[in-house]
Amino acid sequence: MKIDLKISNIINQIAIDAGREIIKIYNKPFTAKMKQDRSPVTKADLVANDLICKKLHELNPKIQIISEEGNKKLDKWNNIFWLVDPLDGTKEFIKKNGEFTVNIALVKNGRPIYGVIYLPTKREIFYTLGKSSYSSKINKKNQYQSKKKIKVKIRKQLKDKVLLLSRSHSRNTELSKKHFRTNKVKFSGSSIKFCLIANGVGNTYPRPGTTMEWDTAAGHAILNAAGGSVKTLDRKVLKYGKKGFKNPSFIARG
Ligand SMILES: [Mg+2]
Repeated sequence: MKIDLKISNIINQIAIDAGREIIKIYNKPFTAKMKQDRSPVTKADLVANDLICKKLHELNPKIQIISEEGNKKLDKWNNIFWLVDPLDGTKEFIKKNGEFTVNIALVKNGRPIYGVIYLPTKREIFYTLGKSSYSSKINKKNQYQSKKKIKVKIRKQLKDKVLLLSRSHSRNTELSKKHFRTNKVKFSGSSIKFCLIANGVGNTYPRPGTTMEWDTAAGHAILNAAGGSVKTLDRKVLKYGKKGFKNPSFIARG
């Protein structure tokens, strides 16, 4: 499937529609349950998942969907599949700090070739189109406003580099600052960190430990097309469709 402007608009709209359903739940009292992996899930994760999976299937029933809240089995012969995290940052959603996202990526031959990340509380969308990445605000009439091409920002001096750390998973900030030789740190929840590197606000996002492929695929695609990279600690490009969809430690850079 070639993702041209028309298809890109359809997929972006799916992410925006999922975001609208998430916000309806966010604005009312809700409860969270613990999943088997001891991560939380809310009604918002499930409602958004149903909507996204249904619409992606309508768009192209031949492409398999792998989702945090849905199917996790890939047919072996399939070299192309969707990776969906309907609500990334459920912990931030529960804390009500607004730092959660909707993530949809298309993976082909182990590489994320398309990605969209939607921030429902900010009504802001990041996505790839062709070889570039874009960001835009979405107004209440669903129109794209101030659409702009985004690029990573090169900061030559190490001390000027902005380190991005996970709000809920960072254990040793001082060690990270020392290791990357900078005092400039920003904390953020969810896949927003990839967007902040892609639009030049941040430079380096180290993520030790296990993450899941649906946490990173859309952000990886957006960062790639904005001029950045996501690599494992042995400097190999992070690939997709791995066993159990588990990522090793990685560093995303602008
Ligand atoms: Mg999730």
